[in-house]
Amino acid sequence: MTKAWGSWAKALYSIAMHPDKHKNVVIEILDDVVVLNDLYPKAQRHLLVLARGEGLNRLADVRREHLSLLKTMYAVGLKWTEKFLDENKSLAFRLGYHSVPSMRQLHLHVISQDFNSQHLKNKKHWNSFNSPFFRDSVDVIQEVSNHGKVVLKNEDNILSMELRCHRCRSAHPNIPLLRSHISSCQASFPAGLLQNGRLVFVPSEDGTSK
Ligand code: AMP
Repeated sequence: MTKAWGSWAKALYSIAMHPDKHKNVVIEILDDVVVLNDLYPKAQRHLLVLARGEGLNRLADVRREHLSLLKTMYAVGLKWTEKFLDENKSLAFRLGYHSVPSMRQLHLHVISQDFNSQHLKNKKHWNSFNSPFFRDSVDVIQEVSNHGKVVLKNEDNILSMELRCHRCRSAHPNIPLLRSHISSCQASFPAGLLQNGRLVFVPSEDGTSK
């Protein structure tokens, strides 16, 4: 069934189709992608890399023919990540997609892992970036390369899962207490995130993320 998109869900599509009309928000325009700051950033640094082509609304639409576009989106996201890391070496980043996006037009999230933002308000926000609902770009590229599409599982319950710290995995009853915990949690990131370049950071001298 084709998803009906509300008018608010089309804002990114409009920017991707007419970036010249949105010069106040767009920070880079290339042939295949447009880059902008997320309007409601969920962390200190939160960018969106939008695909410019028609007919590509979400991960479920992606096929092998889009592999080169996915690689471009990742490369552009990585370039901005490196710029941000030059400015602040204590940050760590993930680059990825929401399994089921709320906004139309394929977009890659580039997001720092501090999650220090007043826009991070509810379970859905947290779990959309900190559960299997968030699909790392490196894995998406590998899956499309191997299978010709992204393997999307039924993610219905994932967004209402309990709130857990993305570093030490401790559970917290609400967002204010979770935010208070993550502002000081120094545990190393889970091993799965440290593999395959899923987490992008400047290693400290012992090779770990700060
Ligand atoms: P999702 O569709 O779930 O992958 O996420 C859509 C993202 O777009 C969210 O992080 C929103 O904060 C962000 N957003 C919503 N409206 C705008 C807008 N007009 N300009 C930039 N970002 C937006």
